[in-house]
Amino acid sequence: MPTYTYERVTRPVTKTVPCRGCGKKLKRSTTLEQTISPFNRGEDGAPKTRDQIVAELREEAATWHPRNDICATCDAVADAAVKP
Ligand SMILES: [Zn+2]
Repeated sequence: MPTYTYERVTRPVTKTVPCRGCGKKLKRSTTLEQTISPFNRGEDGAPKTRDQIVAELREEAATWHPRNDICATCDAVADAAVKP
């Protein structure tokens, strides 16, 4: 079976967010990505162009919020609280 490799467009994001427990500043980062492929289509049904993807990733980066917006200390406290 042939393997197709599609070009990937990536965008690293780093944000400083307050811990949801104590408000301490946390640095979180991720890499957003999309592939340029016939399967990655836009609203008009046509495969997205690199420019479209770059624009979308820029928008996604602007609204991105880390899932782990909690510091290790608060996380340990929350963990201890749920344990019997
Ligand atoms: Zn905290």
